[in-house]
Amino acid sequence: MILLISGPSGAGKSTVYHELMRREPQLGFSVSTTTRPPRAGEQDGVDYHFVDMARFTDLLAEDAFLEWAEVHGQRYGTRREHVAAMEAAGRIPLLDIDVQGGVQVLDSCGAEIVSVFLFPPSWEALEARLRGRGTDSAEAVATRLKNARWEVGFAERYDYWVVNDEVDSAVLRLQAILLAESCRRERFSTPPLD
Ligand code: ADP
Ligand code: 5GP
Repeated sequence: MILLISGPSGAGKSTVYHELMRREPQLGFSVSTTTRPPRAGEQDGVDYHFVDMARFTDLLAEDAFLEWAEVHGQRYGTRREHVAAMEAAGRIPLLDIDVQGGVQVLDSCGAEIVSVFLFPPSWEALEARLRGRGTDSAEAVATRLKNARWEVGFAERYDYWVVNDEVDSAVLRLQAILLAESCRRERFSTPPLD
C-alpha cells in the first residue's frame, strides 16, 4: 500500500500528515527532492532533499523519479529508491505530492495506491491559512490560490475526499481510511484460514 495525499497548498497536508504519522508509526514519509530553496526551519533530508537544477536534471536522466512535476515554478520529484526502501522495510510510504505527480503515480502504480484529496473547508479558509502560515510572499500566496482552482479539478481522480476543517477530525478520518484499506481482501496474500 502507498498512501497518496494531494490537495492545494495551504489545505493543511503537512499539518495533518505529521499528526497522522505520530499516531500511525507504520507510515514512512517519502522525502521528496526539490529545486525549491528551503524555508526557514526546513531541514535538508528531513523536509526535502534540496538540490539545484543541474542535480535534478541528472536524476531525471537516470530515471530516478517515480514521478516528478513542476509546481509553482519549482521542480519536485519522488525518488523510486526511497519508496522501494520503505516498502522493503515493511512501512507504508506516505506521498505528499501535487496533483500532476498524483496522476502519474495513479497511472503507474494503480491498485497499490490509496489516494486522498485533502480539501480546505472554504476558499476563504485556504487564503487565511496561506497568509497565516507566513512562509510565502503576497505574490506567492496569489499564485498558490490561482493554482488551487486548477488543482481541485483533479480531485475526481482520488478515491477519498477529506475536508480539513479541524485537524483532529481530519486525522481521524485518515486513520479510518487506513484501517479500512488494511482489511481489503486484495491486501491478503493468502486467506487467513486455509
Ligand atoms: P500544506 O502542507 O497543505 O501546504 P500546511 O500544513 O502548511 O498546508 O498548513 C497551512 C497553514 O494552515 C498552517 O499555518 C497550518 O498551521 C494551518 N492549518 C492546517 N490545518 C488547519 C486546520 N484544520 N485549521 C486551522 N488551521 C490549519
Ligand atoms: P511546498 O513548496 O509548499 O512544500 O510544496 C508545493 C507543492 O509541491 C505541494 O502541493 C506538494 O504536495 C508538492 N510536492 C512536494 N513534493 C512533491 C513531489 O515529490 N512530487 C510532486 N509532484 N509534487 C510534490
